[in-house]
Amino acid sequence: MANERSFPVCCYCGACAAFIPDFEKYKEEEVVFDKGCGGTVSKGFCFSFCPRSFAACRLCEGECPRKDYGVCDFSPCASSPEGRILGHYKEIISARATEEGIREVGQDGSVITAMLCEALRSGFIDAAVVAIRTEDWKAEPFVATTPEEVLRGRGSKFTACPSVLAVWEAIDRGYENIAMVGTGCNIEAVRRLQALRDPALELDRVKVLIGLFCTEAFWHRDLVMFLAERGIDIKEVERFYVTKGKFMVVTKDKEYSIPTKDMESCARDTCRICEDFTSQLADVSAGSSGSPEGYTSLIIRTEVGEELVSVSKKAIETKKLDDAGIKKIERLAFNKKMRNYGMILDQMGICSACLTNPYSFTLQASH
Ligand code: SF4
Ligand code: SF4
Repeated sequence: MANERSFPVCCYCGACAAFIPDFEKYKEEEVVFDKGCGGTVSKGFCFSFCPRSFAACRLCEGECPRKDYGVCDFSPCASSPEGRILGHYKEIISARATEEGIREVGQDGSVITAMLCEALRSGFIDAAVVAIRTEDWKAEPFVATTPEEVLRGRGSKFTACPSVLAVWEAIDRGYENIAMVGTGCNIEAVRRLQALRDPALELDRVKVLIGLFCTEAFWHRDLVMFLAERGIDIKEVERFYVTKGKFMVVTKDKEYSIPTKDMESCARDTCRICEDFTSQLADVSAGSSGSPEGYTSLIIRTEVGEELVSVSKKAIETKKLDDAGIKKIERLAFNKKMRNYGMILDQMGICSACLTNPYSFTLQASH
């Protein structure tokens, strides 16, 4: 199509498709502007919530609203120096589902699944946005309203999911207390939308955000091709997981072990300018790093995060995460920030020569 331009650092969070009235389209997991950056977009609405707006200035043909955009006021790391590596938090624990049946069907103790099921049963939430998958492992957002439906979202997908689309769907369907599970970029998009404080968007109905630890997401098309080159049909895959530097691919007949560094070619471009390993703006962040096998580390950040863990206490077993575990998460978070810092500055058009501290830029969209 004439004038069609893609946004190569789009994280495919789904926010613009959900909340921009004249949204154009997605093509192969990234947003495409075929009318230029005009209409609603150039008035700054999309800039205010797109988690990649800091990298988008070269696309904007209208007046750039970046000058009006400061630090996200949901960002505790903006005022908390000690929280800069992991973001602000109240407590970090290890947890796993109490019920063996739930633990076995999921990953790393199936804590998120167990918490969501219990939160639905108790009425703490009435809908949960999770990622389900197609037969060929494309991640798709889904509004789960029963524990049985929550189970459809178990396990990691490793490809990007436009979860914010289903947040909009849940609002549109009238749910009042919505949970969303997502990667840091999904969480950031929702926090930015909430920060607009626009009653028409009804984002106050999103009650709790559960963020996933995330190193990178893969392009779906590249993952399919990568596996095919190794004789693996993605439709035959039953499970993906990462352990000890290996990306594991489990099919009915065989388990393949691939060094994670070999998977780099499948990583989305946007993940190279991402500095958020632990979903710093979530209410609770979750990931296996730092915890013993079969457990998930939970970073409890906000009061509503504490409430979620509290209402779930029948469904999960918890224990203290020791200092070594916390240090491990900090190291991974620090490494991601350092690895991607140069690319972030590059995208923002900032010369790094005079800068030595990456954290002063955390979540700032203007300079
Ligand atoms: S990152 Fe999200 S809001 Fe930004 S262009 Fe991509 S899908 Fe839209
Ligand atoms: S690495 Fe960052 S941009 Fe990529 S999926 Fe994870 S949170 Fe989103």
